[in-house]
Amino acid sequence: MSTERVRQKRQFGHRARLALTSAQVPLIDAQAHAARATWNLLHDLWTMTPKCRRSLKAMDEAIRQARKEIDWLAVLPAQAAQAILKTYLQAWKNCWEGRADEPNFKMRLRTVMSVDIPQGRDLQVKRVHRHWGVVNIPKVGRVRFRWTRDLPVGKNASADNRITGARLVKDALGWHIAFRVQTLEAAPQLHTGPEVGIDAGVNVPLALSDGNHHDHGRLPRLPDGTADRDKWLNSDEKAKLLRLERRAAHRKSFRKRGEKTSRRLQHTYDQIKRLRATATRRATDWQHQTTTQLARTYGVIVVENLDIPNMVKSARGTIDQPGKNVAQKSGLNRSISQEAWGRTVTMLTYKAARHGGTLHKVSAPGTSLRCSACGFTTPGSREDQATFVCKNPDCGWSCNADHNAARNVLHLYRMGHALIPAAGRAVVRRTRGVKPAAAR
Ligand SMILES: [Zn+2]
Repeated sequence: MSTERVRQKRQFGHRARLALTSAQVPLIDAQAHAARATWNLLHDLWTMTPKCRRSLKAMDEAIRQARKEIDWLAVLPAQAAQAILKTYLQAWKNCWEGRADEPNFKMRLRTVMSVDIPQGRDLQVKRVHRHWGVVNIPKVGRVRFRWTRDLPVGKNASADNRITGARLVKDALGWHIAFRVQTLEAAPQLHTGPEVGIDAGVNVPLALSDGNHHDHGRLPRLPDGTADRDKWLNSDEKAKLLRLERRAAHRKSFRKRGEKTSRRLQHTYDQIKRLRATATRRATDWQHQTTTQLARTYGVIVVENLDIPNMVKSARGTIDQPGKNVAQKSGLNRSISQEAWGRTVTMLTYKAARHGGTLHKVSAPGTSLRCSACGFTTPGSREDQATFVCKNPDCGWSCNADHNAARNVLHLYRMGHALIPAAGRAVVRRTRGVKPAAAR
C-alpha cells in the first residue's frame, strides 16, 4: 500500500466583516438594490414572454439593454448582473426538479441585501497586516477586512487552491463578505475515536452519553420558568434591550394606520436588530467551537432525529383541536429551537466527515422517558425537566434527564437502529409531495 494519501477537493465559505467607510456603504447599498431590481425585471420579462420564446440569449440581451439605458441599474457590475441571470435560471431548474417553489419577486423589505462577485480574480485579495486583509470590490474600491483565517492568496494560491468568488451580504451588523474557497487536501484518515450519543437537552444544551456535557454557562430559563430568549446577552445588554423595546413601543403608539415608519422608530428598530444579531453571533460561535471539539474527539457521533419545526408547531395544535398546556410546551420547544439543534447537526455532519468520523441519526421516540440502565419505561420516572429517577423497583437508577436520553440514543445506535448514514452528505430538503431523486 502506498503511504501517499488520496487528495480530495474541498469547497467551503469564509465570512468576514468589511471595514467600509461611510462613503462606501451607500455604493454597495445601491448595488444591492440594483441587483434586486434586476431580478424583479427578469422575473417580469420571463413571465410575460411566451414559453416558446424564452431563452438565455433573449434574457441576456435584455439585461445588457437595461444596463445601458437605466442609470441606477448600471451601478451593478456587469458580472454581478450575469450572476443574477444564472441564479434566476437555476431557481427555475430547482423548481422543475421539485427542490423548491417557483421563483418570485423580491420585496424590498424582506429581501436580504446581497451582491455577487462571481469571479475570484476580480477580488485581488491581499494580506496587508497580521490581522487585516484587503479586497477589491468592483465599482467600490479597496476595502479592508479582518484576517481570521489563512486564505489561499498570493503565492499560496494555485489552480487547486484559490478563491473562486465571493458574495457581499448585509445583516443588522453591516456588510460582510463571504468568500468561496476551493482547496485540494489530503483525505482524512479514519477516525478511531470513541462512540458518543448526544441529546439536544433543555437543561444541558448538549448532553453526552459519556457524561462530558457541553454547557454554555447560561441558564436555559428564567426563575419564573419561562425560556430566556436573550440568554446570550449580558445583564447590561438585556437592560438596554428592554429600554429599546419600550421606546419602540412608545414611538409606535403615535404611528397612525397606513403611516410610514418614522426615522426615529426605524432607528430604534435597527438598534434592537443589532443586539439580537450580536446574540445570534455569540450562539453560533459557541456552536462552532463545541462541534469542532466533538468532531475531533469522537469517531462515531449519534444524534436523535428531531423534527423541530413540527415540535414547535404541534404544541399549538389545530383550530379544531387546540393543544393542551400550549404555553408550557411552546416555552419548552422555543428553548429547544433557540439552541438551534438543526444547525448543530449540520455542523456536526460536515465536521465529522472532515475529521474522518461519521454521524448517525436514530429515530428515538421516548428516549427521554425510558431508563437507560434497565431499558424499561416506568411511569413517573422522569420526575421533572432535570431529573430522572427510575421507578422500576429492581433498578432505581437516577441521573440527569438529558444524560439519560443521550445514553438511550447511543444504545439505539449500538442495537442497529441508525436511520441514515448522513456523514459527508448534506441532507437534501425537499418540498412535501416530491419523491426523492432515487425513487423517480
Ligand atoms: Zn431502570
